[in-house]
Amino acid sequence: MCSAQSAENVHSCQNTPAPDVSCSGSDKALPTRIQDKFAQLASKCRKCELHKTRTQVVWGSGSDAARIVFIGEAPGRTEDEGGQPFIGAAGKVLDELLAAADLKRDDIYITNVVKCRPPKNRNPMPAEIDVCSKYLKTQIPAIGPSVIVTLGTFATRYVLQRKDSMAALQGRLYQSKDYLILPLYHPAATIYDRTKREPFLAAAPLLKKLLAEESADDSAEGTASNHLSNHSPSQENT
Ligand code: SF4
Repeated sequence: MCSAQSAENVHSCQNTPAPDVSCSGSDKALPTRIQDKFAQLASKCRKCELHKTRTQVVWGSGSDAARIVFIGEAPGRTEDEGGQPFIGAAGKVLDELLAAADLKRDDIYITNVVKCRPPKNRNPMPAEIDVCSKYLKTQIPAIGPSVIVTLGTFATRYVLQRKDSMAALQGRLYQSKDYLILPLYHPAATIYDRTKREPFLAAAPLLKKLLAEESADDSAEGTASNHLSNHSPSQENT
């Protein structure tokens, strides 16, 4: 668990915790086979209308022991066909961010709030998010990351339970009960609106820093304390 002992500008989301992906202590130890079991269940899922138009369920990819998980909105056409998240044009932008943060896909885990492609890439409906996010609530504790990066409006609103604009939330770090949460623009949005590319990629140093701090915490296991209390929730990012 990352104590973020020197991460600056951490915003508490104590009043608006992230209950939808939080977990109890015992859940954090859920083994990978639990995730495999639910991935198998989801592969046959017909709980919402999206099952009628999908090619396949896109469960997620990456390390089952990742310290950082990226959560997007839903698969697009390329992902629906390929069965992996973020393998199209948006995935290339995400790869730019990962490279700048010295991360590889094998170091992280990537998934979506909704596991099947909405037709014509429309936005997922609230009912679809509601029913499909139950998988995410199993998936995230099974992986047990320290940092969650939400990509775009739907993932950010779901995880943070806030309705602020992405412009207001982008690049700001939030602490929930179990995770540090970093909302970023959806990579696809940076393709359509180039002004979002720079702030999106500018998150790379912060990601590096968070993971470096966690490595330091791991090597000093048992000595880390809750340094987050040193950070005022009212501190603003620049
Ligand atoms: S989107 Fe989720 S809930 Fe809907 S059919 Fe696909 S896996 Fe099931």
